Amino acid sequence: MLDCAIIGGGPAGLTAGLYTTRGGMENVTMFEKGMPGGQITQSSEIENYPGVTGDITGMDLMMPWPEQCQKFGLKHDMIEVSRVTRNKEGVFVIHKADGSSEEALSVIVGTGSAPKRVGFPGEDEFFGRGVSTCATCDGFFYKGKEVAVIGGGDTALEEALYLAKICSKVYLVHRREQFRSAPNTVERVKNKENIELVLNAVPDEVYGDAMGVTGLRVKFNDGTTRDIEVPGVFTFVGNNVNNQVLRQADGSFLCDVNEWGEVVVDISMNTSVPGLYAVGDMRIAAPKQVVSAAGDGAVAALQAISYVDEKVNG
Ligand code: FAD
Ligand code: NAP
Repeated sequence: MLDCAIIGGGPAGLTAGLYTTRGGMENVTMFEKGMPGGQITQSSEIENYPGVTGDITGMDLMMPWPEQCQKFGLKHDMIEVSRVTRNKEGVFVIHKADGSSEEALSVIVGTGSAPKRVGFPGEDEFFGRGVSTCATCDGFFYKGKEVAVIGGGDTALEEALYLAKICSKVYLVHRREQFRSAPNTVERVKNKENIELVLNAVPDEVYGDAMGVTGLRVKFNDGTTRDIEVPGVFTFVGNNVNNQVLRQADGSFLCDVNEWGEVVVDISMNTSVPGLYAVGDMRIAAPKQVVSAAGDGAVAALQAISYVDEKVNG
């Protein structure tokens, strides 16, 4: 029986692994389907992890994390978890993709999330070289320059307002006249002098050269096109939360999730089920940053230690 099962080996899961093992838990396994490190390993440059200066990639940043955890006894099972269930005794069962399973007294889930792709030519080719899904991460690289934002929901409009503070101009490209976003956010966007609305338009192509993106061609509903010369294109067309491991056989979730599938937690990362914690990008109101994911992992680990201690020692 594991004291704690950690699902996902991104910044949140790895930090949970560090704090559980270093905090005295002896039997902790992190289940990660690929190499540990998480989605940040795709990033070519990190400027906002506290204390880290100089040119480093996401891979550089994450490289030492697994070794640091292993030093304190974290075990790593490189396998996909298909489902987490809880039996009548309140013990969690970790069902693995190979059909085997393990029991655990507590579970910390940090399986992350993934921004949806829009699906235009150049989107994948220039991802990380001008196409981005994270204004907090990449906005500063376009300080004083013009950028384009794709989408008409709350995220697109809020991120457009954020980018408008850093960039000289933001072109907000949306496929309709009406926005999905909250009316007061729409009003703020319309009143922002350096945001230009490009409506009834979808991205036709992002193009560039070896250095990265040089422009975005949009296609209007009437078939005409326009070239917008920008080095940065930010896409915000929704998000997929990796919550599948919490889905039960009857289609329900093991714990409460909101209407977008984000796991509902309190400020200590407790879910609605005792002994089950959700951390990082998959939880409600996640800032979707490495530093906050790591913070969540530490908070949940301390909770799990107390929970298991109480369960075992009373
Ligand atoms: P993730 O990093 O997504 O890790 C989840 C892990 O769970 C993955 O390793 C995955 O393989 C594993 N997993 C998923 N499902 C299963 C399963 N069923 N079984 C086993 N394992 C599973 N943040 C910053 O702070 N600064 C930046 O500059 C920055 N730049 C970014 C650039 C890019 C290109 C991207 C994509 C993201 C960037 N971010 C940045 C955001 C940051 O990467 C995330 O906020 C952070 O990685 C979230 O950590 P996490 O541990 O919650 O999830
Ligand atoms: P969203 O509400 O689903 O909006 C996605 C936007 O992208 C929509 O405007 C959609 O256009 C557009 N879009 C989708 N696919 C597209 C495509 N292939 N090509 C072009 N455009 C495309 O996603 P979100 O903005 O990430 O928000 C998700 C949820 O979180 C929402 O319910 C939102 O209210 C909430 N949220 C709330 C806050 C807040 O309260 N402060 C902040 C952020 C997010 P259409 O409108 O035409 O469908």
